[in-house]
Amino acid sequence: MAHENLGKLLKKFYQDRFKPDYIFKVVNPERFAYREFGFDILGSHFVRNRSFSEPAHLHEYLYTFPVAGAYIGAEYEFPLRGTFGGHQPITIHDVKWIGRELVFDLDANEYDPVRFCSCKGQKKVCEECWPLMQDAAAIIDETLRKDFGFKKIVWVFTGGRGYHCWVLDKEAYSLTQEQRSGIVSYMQLIHDPLGEQRIEDISSGAERLKERIFRLLGKQFVLNTPEKVFAEINIKKTAYKRMVTTLTQGSYSRFIDVVPKNHEAFLGMLIKYRYPRIDHKVTIDTKRLIRLPGTIHSRTGFIVQYVDDPVSFTLDQAIHFETEL
Ligand SMILES: [Zn+2]
Repeated sequence: MAHENLGKLLKKFYQDRFKPDYIFKVVNPERFAYREFGFDILGSHFVRNRSFSEPAHLHEYLYTFPVAGAYIGAEYEFPLRGTFGGHQPITIHDVKWIGRELVFDLDANEYDPVRFCSCKGQKKVCEECWPLMQDAAAIIDETLRKDFGFKKIVWVFTGGRGYHCWVLDKEAYSLTQEQRSGIVSYMQLIHDPLGEQRIEDISSGAERLKERIFRLLGKQFVLNTPEKVFAEINIKKTAYKRMVTTLTQGSYSRFIDVVPKNHEAFLGMLIKYRYPRIDHKVTIDTKRLIRLPGTIHSRTGFIVQYVDDPVSFTLDQAIHFETEL
């Protein structure tokens, strides 16, 4: 679609359909004026360091400019003023950072080395690889609730290839970068900065989370992973078949009971193929901008939307903005 046409449609959507209140499920309305916003202007530049004194002004911005992507950042001591309106610019570097929700980012792209569909290397997601996002969400959600005691967790479909998980508990809001980094380290079992698919030193962390990993990831792993992968850890054809039969008949009580004897190797495979691959930079960087719920991911046309249950949400439930016009 030509930029001009797309720009018109985007503005129309924002004018007619966008409800500023939608964002207040994750954003505290009382601190709205102190939040940073950022915008990707279609075919042009990226704008950040913007604040709005009231939601109606944010709304006005969205239907005045052709906004290809809208984002929200942290809360600051004072409202930010870009060069807009002749004010002296105030940027996030000039004022004190106050707080932000704890956010986790899941993107199917991170799974390129272990997905088997045609999305590999294509910056896409499909029905076949989407369950990787569901599994990752299941682990993150339970770990945040049970191990960290967080209660107010909201899941958002990013409109692109995955989820954002927003933790809204008061304690989470003021966490420092170091503390956020600590939470990520606790959860992260795959340290693979070079994309080599090596699983280094997983024993201690994995042991702690072993029961959860088997329970939440086991079934999908066995049923959706090519048989040849099991040969890598010497699981014989007969053993593999027995697992599949037991799992599909639903007659097992615990996944761990149907796993072949070499549990450790099996655990390693589960982690490698299904365990969350969190983009840690998004969680740790407290000044990072995150896609604003209710806005449009213009590359796909999907709306950034809340998801009640990230484990059962599927791509056919994603809403394309043009169907709303
Ligand atoms: Zn795919």
